[in-house]
Order: sequence, then structure tokens, then C-alpha cells
Amino acid sequence: MSARKGQTDCVFCKIATGEIPAKIIYRDDEVFAFPDINPLTPVHILVLSVKHIPSLADMTDKDAALVGKMVRVANQIAREQGIARSGYRLTINSGPDAGQLVPHLHIHLMGGRHLDWKH
Ligand code: AMP
Ligand code: ZN
Repeated sequence: MSARKGQTDCVFCKIATGEIPAKIIYRDDEVFAFPDINPLTPVHILVLSVKHIPSLADMTDKDAALVGKMVRVANQIAREQGIARSGYRLTINSGPDAGQLVPHLHIHLMGGRHLDWKH
């Protein structure tokens, strides 16, 4: 995966290319995952598209299979992390009112403790 394929100013594209280090726990041609640097729950992993899609609002019909795959990978990681049965939450923040900080589509996989609604 060439660094040129990503958006040069995007932190998650830079993680995808290895320019910024992260502990990659899953990767294929389309999807990759690494722990959130500021975990809010005992398990807090980000599942991302390799392709730079700025937000969920920018998703097109052509991206439907990709987003479905991101969910499938998140489920697989939840199983590997041992939280599939205890429970987990997938969150996608899209846009300012949702507090989206990094404009590159990602799913937060959170679990490992009881989650109050939105916390
Ligand atoms: P969001 O607010 O949905 O855009 O979430 C962005 C998330 O990315 C936050 O939870 C950050 O803690 C996380 N984050 C930002 N930079 C990094 C990084 N270099 N490595 C891992 N996680 C990061
Ligand atoms: Zn990006």
C-alpha cells in the first residue's frame, strides 16, 4: 500500500501506510483495525476502511459492501477479544455534532464493561 494512495494530511491514512505507528490488529486490502489511542472502555478498537472516506455522510452506494465488511471485521475482532457474548457497541461518529474528530470513516468497537447509553 503506497503512501501516495492515502490523503497525505489524514492521520488514519498515515497509519494505513505505516507513516504513523499503530498496533495493527487486523488488516486486509480494504479494512484495517488498531486500538484507540485514548481508550474509553477496556476494549476500544477502531475499524477503518483503507480507502479515505471522510465520514459516513460521504458514503456512496458503491461503499455499501465495504461498510458491511467493516462491521463483519468488527464482529470478528469482538469474538477474538472475548466480548462477543458479554456485549459490545459499534459507534460511527459522523460530523461535528457527533464529535467526529478524525475525518476518515471508522467504527469504534467498544466493550469489556457495562456500557451506559452513550458512555
Ligand atoms: P472520532 O471522534 O469518532 O473521530 O474518533 C477519533 C478517535 O481516534 C478518537 O477516539 C481518538 O482517541 C482516536 N485517535 C486519534 N489519533 C489516533 C492515533 N494516532 N492512534 C489511535 N487512535 C487515535
Ligand atoms: Zn484518511
